[in-house]
Amino acid sequence: MGRLAVVAIGGNSITKTGQRGTIPEQFANARTTSRHIADMIARGYDVVVTHGNGPQVGNILLRAELATTVLPPLPLDTCGADSQGAMGYMIQQVLGDELRARGIDRTVATVVTQVVVDAGDDAFRNPSKPIGPFYTQEEAERKEREEGWNVIEDANRGWRRVVPSPMPERVVEADAIKALLAAGCVVIGVGGGGIPVIEQDGGLKGVEAVIDKDHASRLLANDIGAELLIISTDVERVALNFGEENQTWLRELTIESARRYYEEGHFYEEGHFPGGSMGPKILAGIAFLEGGGREVIITDPESIGRALDGETGTRITRQETAA
Ligand code: ADP
Ligand code: MG
Repeated sequence: MGRLAVVAIGGNSITKTGQRGTIPEQFANARTTSRHIADMIARGYDVVVTHGNGPQVGNILLRAELATTVLPPLPLDTCGADSQGAMGYMIQQVLGDELRARGIDRTVATVVTQVVVDAGDDAFRNPSKPIGPFYTQEEAERKEREEGWNVIEDANRGWRRVVPSPMPERVVEADAIKALLAAGCVVIGVGGGGIPVIEQDGGLKGVEAVIDKDHASRLLANDIGAELLIISTDVERVALNFGEENQTWLRELTIESARRYYEEGHFYEEGHFPGGSMGPKILAGIAFLEGGGREVIITDPESIGRALDGETGTRITRQETAA
């Protein structure tokens, strides 16, 4: 096998900010990202693709909501599974096309993936991840009363449901992913961070929660022994003082400096690496290296090739590299 890499792509790179998220739009975006992944595979990497699903699962929830008078409700775990299937299908098709166009005959296969979380995780007492559509205060309070939801007011844009975001502990289908890799497949797994399940009465049970895709991707990456974790998002590099006048783009971070900046920033309001966007990527990067990984690259899809050549992106490494 070649060098094994996990490439984690943002849900935003399949539905871009401002788009309605039509299926043709999602296919077109998936194709653009797939070109860069296919180039990587052409360079000899074995790849597992993971992806976020925020915008897509948001639409599934809204659709379910608009259909409440005619159809039964959908729990969050099955919404996550639906999004894994549909997004996996799209990536399978377009990445398969891009590989064939490069003369590479490899099957791309999606594994519907469950991820075990701890029922005792603090996140269950402190739901914090906003999901789905916006509501008026009145609607939100009715949901709270009638459906037992937790709701918050989201920065003047309206009210939203919040759910727990527990840490992933075990990728249930990790062996299936390894077997597909060994058979030469390109695998898509832990879509949307995986379907969160808890262990109960000797079995598994889906829960109303969302797992961060960066944390789930790093867990899977360590499980399968990947040496490289690429977190592909919509910035070419990580910055210090992001969006401020004194913003500085970073070429490289060590575990130590990443942790120092992470903590340093957190003396301030939001920090260098805020929770819910860059924060989990940095923490996942550190955890991946501590779990045996060799290198983390954070960049955007267009820059993956140049980042592999060391020309751009932000690398996180165990120690300072000579370059
Ligand atoms: P994804 O869907 O890929 O997980 P996120 O929106 O969660 O994307 O995180 C990526 C975003 O993080 C960037 O678009 C950028 O706006 C934001 N961001 C926050 N802090 C930083 C930082 N220090 N450096 C670069 N980008 C940052
Ligand atoms: Mg994110």
